Amino acid sequence: APVIGVLALQGDVREHLAALTAAGATARQIRRPEELAEIAGLVIPGGESTTMSKLAVVFGLLEPLRERVRAGLPVYGTCAGMIMLADKILDGRDDQETIGGIDMIVRRNAFGRQNESFEAEIEVQGIEGGPVEGVFIRAPWVESVGGGAEVLATFDGHTVAVRQGNVLATSFHPELTGDHRVHQLFVEMVGRA
Ligand code: GLN
Repeated sequence: APVIGVLALQGDVREHLAALTAAGATARQIRRPEELAEIAGLVIPGGESTTMSKLAVVFGLLEPLRERVRAGLPVYGTCAGMIMLADKILDGRDDQETIGGIDMIVRRNAFGRQNESFEAEIEVQGIEGGPVEGVFIRAPWVESVGGGAEVLATFDGHTVAVRQGNVLATSFHPELTGDHRVHQLFVEMVGRA
């Protein structure tokens, strides 16, 4: 089984480790730059992107992560992880850094206050067997995508899942649902890379 890391600076790391294991991968936590050499793919969890960004700088991970993603490492980001994979963000903190990797503009906390958290059935391109249950928690949406990025799902007219090459991002949290099809898709992407 391919070894897939979960960036373990902050956020729902354990849920992703469990979902990856259920999807057939060998999953392990990643906190140090040296550990990046041991993985064939990486998940960036949900949580708080401003904190994650700050810790990535403190742990010396930001530049190594950018280099690995540029070199083609398959990465999957959920929610805060999607924000981390955006080339550009809106409503971020002034000093908020991203890893980048997807030519998209992502707006933080985009669904608004009355909609802080909700669930919706989401049809995701490339996922068979019906919609996935999308769990949205202070979720971002994708404001726009550039030429290289492919929209995989929308909700209410807003893009909520995107793929560019080996990089995948969703506004919602499949790791919280017990439905492992999105993680399976990512494990397949890692296997083909
Ligand atoms: N609102 C959070 C952020 O900006 C993301 C929330 C989440 O990951 N569930 O990072």
